[in-house]
Amino acid sequence: MDSLADLHTTPVVEPMEPTPYRVTNSRRETADVTTLTLVPVAAGLASMLPGQYLMVWAFGVGEIPISVSRTLPTGEVLLTVRAVGATSTAVVGTTVGDVLGLRGPFGTAWPMAAAAGRDLVVVAGGLGLAPLRMAIDAQVAQDPTRLSVVVGAREQAQLLYADDLQRWTAAGARVHLTVDAADRGWHGAVGTTTAVLERLAERHEMAFVCGPELMMTSGARAVVGCGVQPADIWVSLERNMHCGIGHCGRCQLGSQLLCRDGAVVRWDHVERLLEVRGR
Ligand SMILES: Cc1cc2nc3c(=O)[nH]c(=O)nc-3n(C[C@H](O)[C@H](O)[C@H](O)COP(=O)(O)OP(=O)(O)OC[C@H]3O[C@@H](n4cnc5c(N)ncnc54)[C@H](O)[C@@H]3O)c2cc1C
Repeated sequence: MDSLADLHTTPVVEPMEPTPYRVTNSRRETADVTTLTLVPVAAGLASMLPGQYLMVWAFGVGEIPISVSRTLPTGEVLLTVRAVGATSTAVVGTTVGDVLGLRGPFGTAWPMAAAAGRDLVVVAGGLGLAPLRMAIDAQVAQDPTRLSVVVGAREQAQLLYADDLQRWTAAGARVHLTVDAADRGWHGAVGTTTAVLERLAERHEMAFVCGPELMMTSGARAVVGCGVQPADIWVSLERNMHCGIGHCGRCQLGSQLLCRDGAVVRWDHVERLLEVRGR
């Protein structure tokens, strides 16, 4: 988009039209997080890459950005959603047979090609595991022995995807779990993902980090201590995304429109901007 003239001549109708998808499964992950499986009612959206997101319409309520958690060869798409407000609560409250509208896929993806053949550490905090799930699947399929996954949650009951965590471990990936507060029966680590990274002191060549912003900031700095160059660290940033195509400007961070230039961005491109925002 070079000029205002382009703005008026570029067709934007298609990415703004929701495509109907029907809920075929609803799986409760935690008290307020649910994974929906959706199948296109007619033609589906284009193929989705790990880290990309969709705009999800709960008709009559609103539209919100939600990361693609997994896609299936059947064309189904899985979305993991936490009920925090009106629209996310409506999405989580859908039942089998209900229809949602999806737009997308939008945004950048985790750089899987660059990660191939390298020692990768994936760091996820809370719901941050959802946009990383397909990336971990892909790396496990390729070479699990070169993959470390560090997952943090507030408590054991908040840990997502227990089946996947077991499967990735069984396949040979090093999966480290930690919780902020231990319940009776928890025998794993207690503390932050950053503390786990510092304690393990593993060496890595590349890192994908997703979770609350403070966790990503300290996590990215910790993986630098594990030998990863800042240009090889990628984070996923959440902002107030509305159009998904870089037109409305609600998601601006410095020179970037994160709905289009993110959500997955290189750490060294945003570190300074995030410091400014935090002051
Ligand atoms: C690229 C991207 C991917 C996302 N992926 C997921 C996902 O996979 N699963 C999921 O559950 N959520 C995801 N989110 C967050 C989700 O979009 C928000 O929770 C949702 O927009 C809240 O809308 P609401 O109408 O339900 O609540 P609102 O009434 O809009 O907000 C309720 C509360 O949530 C906070 N909130 C709203 N939007 C965001 C946001 N973008 N980030 C952080 N806090 C927010 C508000 O400040 C408020 O405190 C993603 C956001 C982005 C930008």
